[in-house]
Amino acid sequence: MQTTSSSLTLSDRVSNLKPSITVALNNRAKALKASGVDVLGFAAGEPDFDTPQPIKDAAIKAMLDGQTKYVPTLGDMNTRECIANKLVTENNILGLTGEHIAIGTGGKHVLYSSIQCLFDFPAEGQEPMEMLLPTPAWVSYRPICELSGGVVREINAGPDSDFRITPEQLRAAITPQSRLLIINSPSNPCGTMYSEADLRALAQVVHETRDIAPNLMVLTDEIYEKIVYGDTPHFSIGSIPEIADRVITLNGMSKAYAMTGWRIGYVAIPGEFGKKFIKAIGTLQGQMTTNITSFNYAAIREALTNPEVAQTVEMMRNAFASRAKLIMNRLAEIPNVSCPTPTGAFYVFPDVSKLFGKTTAKGTKITDAPSLSEAMLDEAHIAFVPGNDFGGISGNHVRISFACSDEQINAGMDRFKAFVDGLV
Ligand code: PMP
Ligand code: GLU
Repeated sequence: MQTTSSSLTLSDRVSNLKPSITVALNNRAKALKASGVDVLGFAAGEPDFDTPQPIKDAAIKAMLDGQTKYVPTLGDMNTRECIANKLVTENNILGLTGEHIAIGTGGKHVLYSSIQCLFDFPAEGQEPMEMLLPTPAWVSYRPICELSGGVVREINAGPDSDFRITPEQLRAAITPQSRLLIINSPSNPCGTMYSEADLRALAQVVHETRDIAPNLMVLTDEIYEKIVYGDTPHFSIGSIPEIADRVITLNGMSKAYAMTGWRIGYVAIPGEFGKKFIKAIGTLQGQMTTNITSFNYAAIREALTNPEVAQTVEMMRNAFASRAKLIMNRLAEIPNVSCPTPTGAFYVFPDVSKLFGKTTAKGTKITDAPSLSEAMLDEAHIAFVPGNDFGGISGNHVRISFACSDEQINAGMDRFKAFVDGLV
């Protein structure tokens, strides 16, 4: 019998899955550029710097030395201990050993695995488990939660509070269904941060509501921890003893060490349950990807321990600090566009809603952030990410990544200003 492909279907799970807008827009800007269009990309959430040389050298040496075979699924113990040591000494997350660390293929992958290990699809007649998601939030938390049977309860913050939720908002959102609170500081897409005092107040709420939500855990995504340049130092919520045993700390090499293409991320959680959780990630990963690329473990150790690398990280931090100032100065010249000052990561998230309802010089009607982004890409050749998929009030915003040169920032802001000036 002959079959035709028209009768073939995909799973509902992937058919209903929303593509990542950040990845999609970045790919689109790159494709346009490759086709010869003079596009200035501000969509990519990745440093424009190259990976520091000692890290590359360590990986090359490991490869030449023959470290090209399978290794234990979660990583060799040396590297897991090296990460544990970093988290104990730099982040004050006490009691971590190599057994409390899982290394996977990027922050996104260990986020996916962590959520798979925490959420179940509800049995019939049962309420689903909930992820408490302060918004605006990075676009991937929601779909990854929903793929695992969870539902998202957004806790909305806005520019007035530098996009930070309050302890009162958190308390009001907690129910017996609460499974996981996401914290992401410095924030993608906002570029703002929680202070130590803010995080202590949120931790207090998690601690005090143990009876209401006995299974509530915290996942703190600290992938931008090294890119901090305001008055607020980075602080790890996993260092607060009252809740430490229920805090998963996620980090990775992508942003701090300009290693987005290497695909390396890790999670850590102390205590006995921590070991059990990490083992479960190992079981899952053992059926999915096994270990990360074997010669990359040496690169991780090099990144975390070589003082020369630390100096390069500091150079990159200073560059982001100065670019943050530059882009804020340039945005201040643009009418009807405003946002809080970034103090971390490399994003600004301006409110552009005052531009909705206007028409571009070429006659395109701007109705919302996606139509604005689209028109800017088509007519001004600048790629900004429309806010909508970041949740909450994000539909009034666009995300601009300033992980690019001063020249590009200046040229992009010239185009943005001319575009806005041309709106009627
Ligand atoms: N968390 C946040 C907040 C991010 O912006 C990113 C960037 N994609 C990640 C996690 C994951 O990064 P990666 O998978 O490259 O480690
Ligand atoms: N985190 C980056 C961003 O938000 C990279 C793309 C992605 O993984 O979402 O742009």
